[in-house]
Amino acid sequence: MSPRNLLNSIFGKKEKVVTRIAASPTGNLHVGTARSALFNYLFARKNKGKFIIRIEDTDESRSEREYEKNILDGLNWLGLESDEVVKQSDLVERHTECIEKLLLEDKAYESLEDGNKVIRLRNNGGEVVFNDLVRGEIKFDVGELGDFIIARSRTSPLYHLAVVVDDADMDVTHVIRGEDHISNTPRQILIQQALGFKRPKYAHIPLILAPDRSKLSKRTGSTSIDEFRKNGYLAGAFLNYLALLGWNPGTDKELFTMDELIREFDLNGIQKGGAIFDEEKLKWFNREHISNLSEEDKLSYFSKSLSGFDKETAIKMIPVVEERFSTTLEVRNAIREDEFSYFSERPAVDETKVSWKKDSFKDTLMHLENVMELLEKVPESDFTEENIKEAIWSYASREGTGSVLWPMRYALTGKEKSPSPFSVAAVLGKEETLSRLRLQ
Ligand code: GLU
Repeated sequence: MSPRNLLNSIFGKKEKVVTRIAASPTGNLHVGTARSALFNYLFARKNKGKFIIRIEDTDESRSEREYEKNILDGLNWLGLESDEVVKQSDLVERHTECIEKLLLEDKAYESLEDGNKVIRLRNNGGEVVFNDLVRGEIKFDVGELGDFIIARSRTSPLYHLAVVVDDADMDVTHVIRGEDHISNTPRQILIQQALGFKRPKYAHIPLILAPDRSKLSKRTGSTSIDEFRKNGYLAGAFLNYLALLGWNPGTDKELFTMDELIREFDLNGIQKGGAIFDEEKLKWFNREHISNLSEEDKLSYFSKSLSGFDKETAIKMIPVVEERFSTTLEVRNAIREDEFSYFSERPAVDETKVSWKKDSFKDTLMHLENVMELLEKVPESDFTEENIKEAIWSYASREGTGSVLWPMRYALTGKEKSPSPFSVAAVLGKEETLSRLRLQ
C-alpha cells in the first residue's frame, strides 16, 4: 500500500478513487478500448479521483510506437484527459523486483519450457471468489490453472504479473474493463495474494457486439476510432453514443454532454448483456450533435467537405446538407457523385424533360413565367427557403404542385432528384434562380 493510502486507512479517510485504461499498443484505438477508457474516466471524474492511461507495451514484439500514438491521439480526441500517462516498459525494474521477491519466498520458481527457462507461480489451488460490481459474485476453481507462467525471465514479465504490480503501485482502486478479462482475474488475484497486494474492485463491462451479435470486427464495419473520426463523427456525438453502449442512465434521456455524463454515470447502471454497436444509431447521435452546434461551428465542421464551393454558397448549403446527411463522409460522397454540381455551375437543361408528365411545353413555360413573377416580389436580402415557398405555394397548389414545382426543380438543378426547389433557390440566390428559370 502506498504511504498515502496507508495514512488514509489509518485515519479512516475515504480512499481516493483511481482508475486506469490499460491499452496494449498492438493496434489502433479500438471502439471497445475507447468505451472502457470512457467508463474509467467518467467514474474517476465523478468521484474526484484520478484517471491513468497506461500503455501496456511489455510485449515488445507486438507493440508499435505508431499504435501508441494512435491510442493517445484517439483518447485525446474524445476528450478523455488523463492525470498521468505511464508506459509499462518503463516499469520493468519494478516488475523484476517483484519476480525476484516471489522467487526468494519460493512463491514462484523457474522451470524449463521448450528448452527455455520460464518463471511459474506456485498455485496451491482452491477457490478464488470475487465480487464483481457488474456481475456479482464470481467463483473460480483455480486448481485447474496449474502453476502458470508469470514471466519469461526475471526481466521479462508477462501481462498478468505486470498488470497486478502496476495496478497496486498506482493505487488503482477500480479495474473497469471488458468482460473478456473475467477469466484473467483469478490468475491476477493469485499473483496479488502472493505479493501481499490489496485487491482492487472489479467491474467487468459487457462486450460490444456487431448487429448480428457476432464479435465486432473489421468484417462488420469500422472498429477503429480513427475511421469514425475521419468519417466525420463529432467527438461529442461519438462519446455520447459510446457511453450508452452498456450503460443505462435509468431515464429516457439519450443526449448527454461530457459534463452531464460525469454527473450521471454510475456503475450500477452498467448492464450485463452485450451491447450492440449500431452505426445507424450512431449517425442519429451525430445529426443531433451537429444540429446543436453554433452556426460558426457548423461552418467549420462542413467547410472542408464544401471547399469546392465559394464561401457564400457553402454557408447557404449548410441547411441543405445538414438535413440530408449524417456525417461529412456522406457529404463528400454525395459531392463526388456530382449531387450538388448545380450549386457551382449552371446545369445543362434538356427541354424535353422540363415538363411535368403530360403538360405541354407551352404551359410549362407559362408556369415558369408566373413563378418568376412571384419571386420578383421577394426581396433579394430575404430570399430564404421559407419566403420562397410562401411566395409560390398557393399558386403551385392551385395549378398542381407537379406542374409548377417539377419544372422549377429541373430548371434549377438539371436533375430529377434534388433537395426541395425552395431550398435550392435559396442557396442559388435571387439573381441566379431567375436566370435559370428563364431557361436561356
Ligand atoms: N492490456 C489489456 C488489454 O489491452 C488490458 C488489461 C486490463 O485492463 O487489465 O486488453
